[in-house]
Amino acid sequence: MKTINISGIELYLFKNLSDFDNITHFVSSRKGGCSNGQFKSLNIGFNIGDDDHNVIQNRKALSEATDISFGNFTFARQCHGSNIFFVDNSLRGSSSADEESSLGNADGMITSLPDICITVKVADCVPVLLYEPDNHAAAVIHAGWKGTVNKITGKAVEKMIRFCGSKPGNIYAGIGPSIGPCCYETGNDVYREYMDKGFTGKDIMIPSKQKDKYYLNLWQANKKQLTELGVKPENIEEASICTKCNNESFFSSRASDGKTGRFAAGIMLKKK
Ligand SMILES: [Zn+2]
Repeated sequence: MKTINISGIELYLFKNLSDFDNITHFVSSRKGGCSNGQFKSLNIGFNIGDDDHNVIQNRKALSEATDISFGNFTFARQCHGSNIFFVDNSLRGSSSADEESSLGNADGMITSLPDICITVKVADCVPVLLYEPDNHAAAVIHAGWKGTVNKITGKAVEKMIRFCGSKPGNIYAGIGPSIGPCCYETGNDVYREYMDKGFTGKDIMIPSKQKDKYYLNLWQANKKQLTELGVKPENIEEASICTKCNNESFFSSRASDGKTGRFAAGIMLKKK
């Protein structure tokens, strides 16, 4: 990834997605906002204890920095499931200004329409962005350990194939900052679920020195879903940035006992 700083707002951009002029995308950091305490400072999430006015101010600042209209930001109610919405014009701007108007329970969104910035909020879970230029289609995914084991990223690719006519070989992917395998120790219950769903690679569940503990590599588990469906490895960019190790730049739930803000990752198609 590369970083840019616009009036104090630090944005992370995937190099592979930056090559396309007819999309806008970003991953926000926690820098440059107005929230305080554990939400310091660019908290994008409502209903987690921060003042709504701060969240709106932060989203407006993000809107200016990204040059994406405030009313084009579109959010779903994330629930660690594997539901994926196709977002059309009737859903544009859902939850841009409050949590209540979110477009429903979903952890992934796809669209093939311009000026809809499909966006996820994260603080350790993996944000994944997909773009397929031939059919001008995009997806955004919120993949925590549950979404990942239920193959939400693979499901998003399948939906792009079905609804947008995308070919996996044309899809470009960005796997964003999240808790890394360096810091994500899990127990036997999580290990079993990953084994049962075929995530058997030693690069995905790395045995810890502690008995019955494993370090989970969410980046690799999401990459596997993409390559198994035919996305080319050279078209996948992995940020390899651990949110817990880089807590000064990103909100991390595990670095703050669950009491923290959210950063955002979004992608928007421009008119072709
Ligand atoms: Zn780490």
